[in-house]
Amino acid sequence: MNRPRAAYVHIPFCAHKCGYCDFASVAGLDSLAGRYLSALERELSLRLAEPQSVDTLFVGGGTPTQLEPRLLERLMTLLRRWLPLSPGGEWTVEANPNTLDATKVGILADAGVGRISLGAQSFDPNALKVLERNHHPGDVSRAVELITRRFRSWSLDLIFGVPGSSLSSWLSDLDAALALAPAHLSCYGLVYEKGTPLWKSLVRGQVQPLDEDLERTMYEATIDRLEAAGLAMYEISNFARPGAECRHNLVYWANEPYFGFGLGAARYLDHVRASNTRDLSAYLRRLESGLVPTGPSEQLPPEARARETAILNLRRTRLGIDRAEFTARTGFQLDDLCGPALERHRQAGLIVDDHRRVRLSRAGLFLADTVMADLL
Ligand code: SF4
Repeated sequence: MNRPRAAYVHIPFCAHKCGYCDFASVAGLDSLAGRYLSALERELSLRLAEPQSVDTLFVGGGTPTQLEPRLLERLMTLLRRWLPLSPGGEWTVEANPNTLDATKVGILADAGVGRISLGAQSFDPNALKVLERNHHPGDVSRAVELITRRFRSWSLDLIFGVPGSSLSSWLSDLDAALALAPAHLSCYGLVYEKGTPLWKSLVRGQVQPLDEDLERTMYEATIDRLEAAGLAMYEISNFARPGAECRHNLVYWANEPYFGFGLGAARYLDHVRASNTRDLSAYLRRLESGLVPTGPSEQLPPEARARETAILNLRRTRLGIDRAEFTARTGFQLDDLCGPALERHRQAGLIVDDHRRVRLSRAGLFLADTVMADLL
């Protein structure tokens, strides 16, 4: 496998834990942030031995911008040292609306960050309440105003299918987002992750999930509204103006290798998928003892790896699975592996096959999980 050209770094601290959140994130533990950065630097030195230049660097969380300015500056310094960006590279940092101020925006821009991904999720106070987000709709536009002073490239995350929402409230959300003129938008359908407070409310019957047909209508409306506004869909949940696609995420969907550092971070190196422990005290303890913070890992045999490549590629709605690229990457012919399944889904109208590429059709977008499960 080629040396990774992409790296993900996780910062787990948040101002507050949102009700739907299943990420490796912690609230109320900011006092551990200094120790965490020392542990992170130790992990970088143990795993890399020497600095590695990357083409894409994505700092996510948690909320990286929850770090106080002094620590945010320290994070920037250690990343510039260990993971220097190659010329023309893409460096993204995730932010939440009420954790940004001019000082933090300045620290990120001065360090060489080129792209901010802002977790807006909704502009509807009711939806924000159901999601237990701790920002108000007005905080998003204030954050965007700060970001656009220093950054040309930025993205918004939105969530649809929130209990209590309607098609018209979702369309208003999309309009509010478009009014801010982002070049990139991620729109995710709400997932009730097992064990989260929102999932528990669902199980107890305290929240009503949205009707599936309504969710599908919302998704269709998203594709139409965003495409009409010049933001083309390039992945099942991602939309961008030409050239504004997230290069880091394209690495995942191409099934290329990447580094991952920090609490719970996943990596894909030498055909092994592995992740760090999600337990913050174990992460700190192990690194403070000079040990890597190991978690689950899995080495896939070549055929399983090839099938995984097929389903990840299929998420790319325009590129799809390119037969020549697939063979070059996996050593397998796509049709030898998945021929009958592809033919079945082509006949059912769920995929489009022009002999060079296989892509999800519009109908296939709504049944992507079924098509992918079949290819796997
Ligand atoms: S801000 Fe993001 S990472 Fe933090 S708790 Fe909320 S959803 Fe989770």
